[in-house]
Amino acid sequence: MTISNRLQSLLKHVESVCVLTGAGISAESGVATFRGVDGLWSKLKPEELANFNAFMRNPELVWEWYDYRRKIIHNIKPNAAHEALARLEELVKEFTLVTQNIDNLHRRAGSKRILELHGNIERSYCIECGKFAENIEVTKEKKVPRCISCNGLIRPDVVWFGEILPEGVFEAAIEAARRCELFLTVGTSAVVYPAAGLPITAKNQGAYIVEVNTERTEISHIVNETLIGKAGEVLPCLISIMEETRNKK
Ligand SMILES: [Zn+2]
Repeated sequence: MTISNRLQSLLKHVESVCVLTGAGISAESGVATFRGVDGLWSKLKPEELANFNAFMRNPELVWEWYDYRRKIIHNIKPNAAHEALARLEELVKEFTLVTQNIDNLHRRAGSKRILELHGNIERSYCIECGKFAENIEVTKEKKVPRCISCNGLIRPDVVWFGEILPEGVFEAAIEAARRCELFLTVGTSAVVYPAAGLPITAKNQGAYIVEVNTERTEISHIVNETLIGKAGEVLPCLISIMEETRNKK
């Protein structure tokens, strides 16, 4: 992998970094996009299950689907890219990880300052009183979990089709993009708004934008540098450059 002199020197001194991640980083761990999967769920499109009307019509079905997905994700491990980003957080003063993924792999890898634009599949909340619930178990007897406080229906804390992003999360992401010196976009084509606005915001404020992806994307023409390759290989390289040069200080 070749990186520019500009990025080399930036990696030595940068103290404020913002990262945007998408499905590509988790795909390297084996998280499928849940389109075209085999068996039971192959006949239903995610759009038909991941929306509030579908949930109200048939909460059992929607919970069964999320339970299936959570079990798959639970058996998957964070990869070298997730770990590199957790390490990056320790190396700089200011760090924000903005993710479009709901799989919780960044947290499991050790990242701390995470803004989850689309929620988190391992978290749930009551649609009546808003109380959060963790470690929800769906069983044969109890297919739809209920709130222990008010008996309301519990739903996964993920952003469904047609829903707005969690309050304050996107605003915090914009703020981080405005402040950073280096903005990394990893495993995302970043064409879906509002996430697509983040690298543009960062660039307008003078940040250096680096894209890490297995192929060029629709935002390649606006970024300063595109590093083609697996995130699990490219990111550890960048981190080792940072660690090497910082140790020499
Ligand atoms: Zn409740």
